[in-house]
Amino acid sequence: MPQQIRAVRGMNDILPEQTPIWHYLEQQIQDVVNSYGYRKIEIPVLEATELFQRGVGTGTDIVEKEMYTLADRNGQSMSLRPEATAGTVRAAIQNGMLYNQVQRLWTSGAMFRYERPQKGRYRQFFQTSIESFGMPGFEADAEIILLTSRIFKHLGLLDHIKLEINNLGSTTDRAKYRQALVEYFSKHKNNLDDDSLRRLDINPLRILDSKNPEIQELIADAPIMNDYLAKESLEHFDKLLSYLSEHNIPVVLNNKLVRGLDYYNLTVFEWTTDYLGAQGTICAGGRYDGLVELLGGKPTAAIGCALGLDRIVLMLDKLYNLTDKLSPYADISIICNNNDANIATWQAEKLRDQLKNIRVHVNYGGSFKSQTNRAENTKAKFIWIIESKDAPDSITIKCTQTKEISKHANYDDAVSWITKQF
Ligand code: ATP
Ligand code: MG
Repeated sequence: MPQQIRAVRGMNDILPEQTPIWHYLEQQIQDVVNSYGYRKIEIPVLEATELFQRGVGTGTDIVEKEMYTLADRNGQSMSLRPEATAGTVRAAIQNGMLYNQVQRLWTSGAMFRYERPQKGRYRQFFQTSIESFGMPGFEADAEIILLTSRIFKHLGLLDHIKLEINNLGSTTDRAKYRQALVEYFSKHKNNLDDDSLRRLDINPLRILDSKNPEIQELIADAPIMNDYLAKESLEHFDKLLSYLSEHNIPVVLNNKLVRGLDYYNLTVFEWTTDYLGAQGTICAGGRYDGLVELLGGKPTAAIGCALGLDRIVLMLDKLYNLTDKLSPYADISIICNNNDANIATWQAEKLRDQLKNIRVHVNYGGSFKSQTNRAENTKAKFIWIIESKDAPDSITIKCTQTKEISKHANYDDAVSWITKQF
């Protein structure tokens, strides 16, 4: 026998039992983003590597070690998208969507990162990415946060998560803070690990992201961003916080929250949970006013976030056992006593015409007993038994849950009985 071919490590199949919970989640998200007037955009899975180098930043983990990069047949370097913001911005610039106008966009799909696979962390995973352009005021920050909060409310997750938020200030504020961090960590160079030493040169803010306990001790005494923020930056954030409080959104201020991507300024936030161990962030975002210009467009205010759908599915399942609850079993499974699939197929087609949104299975071939077993295995609510091919109108319906049996002398009676059951 030829050897089996397995899926790529960290890239999962979503099996039929699991697809309904994904559809449910996508539907809930779609309803909410629509209600805020965000419009869907689809962008390619593969883009020029340079887009991510520029858009995500060469000093980030994503670009440094997580991208799936390949050469196409012309030798041009391409990468599978590790996130959707850079592609969305590229598309919006390329299609003239940003000049002097406000845009509210969202997209959803598979992203790819070469990470160590574990629960809630995969090499192919799914994100919904939501972005708005052309609104520099704090109201746009609030809108994205209200929107995500509403998604989590609809999903029943709001009581199980918290909103962590920080202010990264303007580009100038960050440059000053960066300088202060370089000075501080340079004094403690001997205590830094390799990762932090590398970050000290490329992106010292990222040291604050370190999970190493020894580095965390150092971080505790490091200069804090807040001391380096200009008046306007502080005002933007203060207004946002009071807006959120008026809308009853509790926040946790976390001045160590810097986010993995390079392009953020002012507001950054994460929705986090204790339910998923180390993979506790289910949505992350922030303002990125510099990105459009960095990718060749005119300076444009922008804010966005990405929801980690795989982690949200894990949470929904853990809290509400949704995979089991939503599993789509057949409603009616048809068997024919004398094994005449043709009659069964005719009746199934008629049932599909007459009963909307009902799932009908036909059992083809095999003895009456094996057909019955198969019908029961589909976990159908009703087994529709055509008693004999010579008397196709004599129909018995068995309810698999109550074990009730109802006999009918003709097809129409059987239909009107079963219609009342749904
Ligand atoms: P983390 O710190 O967990 O690596 P990140 O900062 O790299 O997250 P973002 O780039 O901000 O993540 O992506 C937004 C969201 O997408 C994350 O909060 C998470 O929910 C989800 N996500 C990111 N990487 C993965 C992955 N490899 N597998 C599953 N979900 C992921
Ligand atoms: Mg990551």
